[in-house]
Amino acid sequence: MKPKPTLLAVFAHPDDEAYGPGGTLAKYAILGADVHMITFTCGEAGSIGVSKTLPPDELCRRRREELHGAADALGLASCRIVGEPDGGLERIDEEKGARIVLGAIREIRPHVVITFHREGVSGHADHKAVYRFVRRAFALAGDDRPRRLFGWCILESRLHIYRGERKIYAADDSEVAAVIDIPRDAMDRKIDAIERHETQIEFFGQLKEWFGDYRDATSREFFERIDRRGGAAGPVVTDLFDGIDGAAFAGTDRSEPPGDRR
Ligand SMILES: [Zn+2]
Repeated sequence: MKPKPTLLAVFAHPDDEAYGPGGTLAKYAILGADVHMITFTCGEAGSIGVSKTLPPDELCRRRREELHGAADALGLASCRIVGEPDGGLERIDEEKGARIVLGAIREIRPHVVITFHREGVSGHADHKAVYRFVRRAFALAGDDRPRRLFGWCILESRLHIYRGERKIYAADDSEVAAVIDIPRDAMDRKIDAIERHETQIEFFGQLKEWFGDYRDATSREFFERIDRRGGAAGPVVTDLFDGIDGAAFAGTDRSEPPGDRR
């Protein structure tokens, strides 16, 4: 029997998963994949809404709870906070960060790993640091290297939905490697996950104002391939597990011809 499709998401702060590729995480959980997550910080330096008024210890406690609530809403198999300092990830040695990710890869054995686009989407230094840790972990993984590494991104051609009011480091459309349609049930879970992050909820209000119809504006999520040399995007897939033999969703036959690897 083939192993269950397994995905690991690696982020910097509680809420990165919900406001980011939460629809994709929920979709694969619904399809029967094991979806795991590690988040490097508990978000104690947050500055949105009520976050400004809470002492770091209290904010950390609340955001830790919120993240576990969001993980439940998305249907994740596990969710772990590493506990590194919010706002301090770029000062962590890249090898140390990579070893943390590699430890999770060796334990969870994902077929697919998701993190941020190389510019960190919002450009946050913590996001860019996590991208570098994950990329380095892939280089160190040897035989344990997962089959795919994707970076969640916002496309240049879709920046207009943010109405120019927020700095976004977008990906060029030519970089897109995967476009994931988010069905209604996964979108319900994504919105539930966003709402679990109560200390950050002002940002959801802002997004709804900019996007008009939030569901419609986020009904597809986009990814680049980080683990492909030369930056060539290659064919655009609609399934992050596309072409991975050895990972089968129940009731599907994903057998691939030999040689179709990476
Ligand atoms: Zn973040």
